[in-house]
Amino acid sequence: PANTTATRQAVTRLTTGSIPATVGADLLVPLADGRVTDYANFDHGASAPCLESVRRAVEAALPSYASVHRGNGYASRITTQWYERARAEVHSFVGAREDDQVIFTRQTTDALNLLAKALPADATVIVFESEHHAALLPWPAERTVRLAAPSTTTGAVTAVADALRQAPEGPRLVVVTGASNVTGEIFPIAELAAVARAHGARICLDAAQLAPHREVDIAELDVDWVALSGHKLYAPYGAGALIGRADWLNAADPYLYGGGATASVTTEATVWNEGPARHEGGSPNVIGAIALAAACAAISQHREAIEQHERSLLARLRTGLAQIAGVTTYDIFGADADRVGTVCFTVAGISSTITSAALSAEYGIGVRDGKFCAHPLVGHLLQDSPEHGTAVRASLGLGTSREHVDRLVSAVRTLATKGL
Ligand code: PLP
Repeated sequence: PANTTATRQAVTRLTTGSIPATVGADLLVPLADGRVTDYANFDHGASAPCLESVRRAVEAALPSYASVHRGNGYASRITTQWYERARAEVHSFVGAREDDQVIFTRQTTDALNLLAKALPADATVIVFESEHHAALLPWPAERTVRLAAPSTTTGAVTAVADALRQAPEGPRLVVVTGASNVTGEIFPIAELAAVARAHGARICLDAAQLAPHREVDIAELDVDWVALSGHKLYAPYGAGALIGRADWLNAADPYLYGGGATASVTTEATVWNEGPARHEGGSPNVIGAIALAAACAAISQHREAIEQHERSLLARLRTGLAQIAGVTTYDIFGADADRVGTVCFTVAGISSTITSAALSAEYGIGVRDGKFCAHPLVGHLLQDSPEHGTAVRASLGLGTSREHVDRLVSAVRTLATKGL
């Protein structure tokens, strides 16, 4: 750190601040010194706060849930209905095709690992180094082609086309994020899907960052699988989904061996189920699925308003930061790229750890600093900023207001011009 005393002071102020145990719908979190009464959450990209409608759906289910699929009692049958309705809601949320299946997982990481386990033995995987580790790492190393982080959207499409041309015979899978978790930039998904299709390959979309902010339509984009996380979609932790083609998944060994995954078990043989049950061994996270589905329903209903809210705040934030000397923002494709509400930046002369600690302690602003589980990408973006090994990420969403944006810009301006 450039200034350890300042960091220590900032962190001390942060950790001794009186943050109430409960966070209301308006996210009010007064800090101790009274100067800042409203917590400005710029960490939606990590996990988004819970929606009121999600809370209500969970509360409604809590008193009476029972085991799904296996019980014949009233509560079991109702809970099974809730669970399968949740599956249908998620199916519709991503515009899935009729024969696509929704497998509930713990989150995106789990969904992508499930797909990795279901790869045909001779499959080749093509993935950009700019991916979040969850999309970069699950694939078998010896059969994975890692492409350098692209610098233009057309370059991304060309790189994938070239890699597909050179890939060995056999099944191929392209894995790509919808929106970067570091810069928010949106990848050319439909174009990449078209290239994959032209080469007879499959494509999986990591929609962890895209789905909370933009409509994802599997059929229209013509992608084969979509992975997403409930906790980034304004639901609590523990539920996500892999949605898409059934064939590879039905041909694969179950993800978890156990009850629910089996059609029959005898001394001689085990016959595994087909469909989502094959990979949902054990008692599922029914409440998580209900929460995820409630979030999907609410987001679909308010999609346009959410997008408008975020676009205007993002423009304000980017314009504000661009006017501050000493602040550098980082992009994969460039300043004009379409993007969700995430900005990655550094402040000259101040380490990212200190910047984020000061924003929190002094201004009640929650951002993230580090490499955001995308080490190769952050290394690539910061290669011309030797002063910095890590960056600050501000990611906005429904919990962000115009005042929060103005406060963040003004706080960064003060840090950049006056220091700590
Ligand atoms: N993919 C992207 C683009 C992400 O931003 C994240 C989380 O930050 C993940 C995957 C992993 O999500 P989860 O931690 O919910 O599995």
